[in-house]
Amino acid sequence: MDWSDFARWGARISDWAKTYHETIRTRPVRAQVAPGEILAALPETPPQHGGAMEDVFADFEKTVMPGITHWQHPRFFAYFPANATPPSMLADYLATVIAPQCMLWQTSPAATEMETRMIDWLRQSIGLPDAFSGVIQDSASSATLAAVLTMRERTLNWSGNTEGLTGQARLRVYSSIEVHTSIDRAIWVSGIGQDNLVRIPTQGPTRSMDPVALDEAIAADIAAGFLPAGIIASTGGTGTGGSDDINAVCDVAEKYGLFVHVDAAWAGAAMICPEFRDMWAGVDRADSVVFNPHKWLGMQFDCSAHFLRTPEDLVRTLAIQPEFLKTHGKDGVINYSEWSVPLGRRFRALKIWFVLRVYGLEGLQTMIRNHVVWSGELCETIRTTPDYEIITEPVLSLFTFRYAPSGVEDLDDLNQRLVSAVNDDGRTYITQTRTDGKLVIRFQVGQVDVTREDVTEAFAVIQEIAASL
Ligand SMILES: *Cc1c(COP(=O)(O)O)cnc(C)c1O
Repeated sequence: MDWSDFARWGARISDWAKTYHETIRTRPVRAQVAPGEILAALPETPPQHGGAMEDVFADFEKTVMPGITHWQHPRFFAYFPANATPPSMLADYLATVIAPQCMLWQTSPAATEMETRMIDWLRQSIGLPDAFSGVIQDSASSATLAAVLTMRERTLNWSGNTEGLTGQARLRVYSSIEVHTSIDRAIWVSGIGQDNLVRIPTQGPTRSMDPVALDEAIAADIAAGFLPAGIIASTGGTGTGGSDDINAVCDVAEKYGLFVHVDAAWAGAAMICPEFRDMWAGVDRADSVVFNPHKWLGMQFDCSAHFLRTPEDLVRTLAIQPEFLKTHGKDGVINYSEWSVPLGRRFRALKIWFVLRVYGLEGLQTMIRNHVVWSGELCETIRTTPDYEIITEPVLSLFTFRYAPSGVEDLDDLNQRLVSAVNDDGRTYITQTRTDGKLVIRFQVGQVDVTREDVTEAFAVIQEIAASL
């Protein structure tokens, strides 16, 4: 393909994108294919001879598109959003066509220095003090892994990387059960082990860790010869938005000198609105905080903002300096590959710059405030609708409910069948979770193009399908 062909195809794909997004409401939100269907449509062996781009594109529409779940569909109310705004797409397109590998300052100074500035813009946007600096990680999972490795090394006096964990005292990390599964995986991968992730009971409607139980668990572990390393707190847990009292967690952490990592992967974006910041009061006392602009800020996947009070500890944990990576004579510059597990890095800061400049904080704040209001309105509608009950109250734009007509014995089964039927229908997309032993329907409003009517329409569809079960 020569560059003239490339330019023609680039323009054609831009037109395709416009039509796709303008007509996206006509598509089923969740892919309606059966497992194996796409695989079977793809030839088993690679082509020997090259072919026309026209044919490739035709097959893309025929084979790939039916197997896509449309995350940018305004009636996507499942999981959490993974938003992509047009300026973010354009920035990522530019980053893709330049295709720099931004592991070191000198492998693209603009990417490094843009990252330093953008992560600081984000820090200010969510109200973190300037004691924090940060890095863009590929995902919250990676940020949490980096934080757990830092806790481990700090607690082992930096000997884990060299000596391994064999023969060391057993490390312990504390969290509630409301945290995301990425915390479990960070604990596995760091070698700490699931048995050493101590689950602290939660209390109250916010489902926050009981600080007294936390204190007692740490004291008991120390008495038993374990080595407490850190606490992982949650702001906006995955299932129902469970959130810890960060001040109370930090009080206990300070008493024992423990590292605190706050996972606010989804909810952190809402902190650009000052009125929501009470939710994570005390976050300025944490050591490490992660949130995902790729969820609710329209800076498409992947873009995870990781803030650290002492980045030196992270760099001490993760930096390797083989000869070929040394940037002789350029000391004092930041090499962000020393702040993350992967070496290679994409130019992710560009989309932050584009999105913040095009929408401004004001534009993003309006979007998030609308989502929270519309979610709250639907919650009130459902509360007063016969045969439905609210199970967990809204945390920002997330709440859970279930269909509970009288006389039905197995409500779990009924609600699971309802979720499946709604998603097979395709006009809207929801997911379920289990809370206090009940299978419930999660509803979160967060897609960038969603309107109040989309939210109302979603519940109308749910009611219509529920009546037909
Ligand atoms: C989405 C989410 C994660 C995982 O984010 P990735 O960037 O996909 O790793 C972790 N924690 C919470 C609370 C989340 O909502």
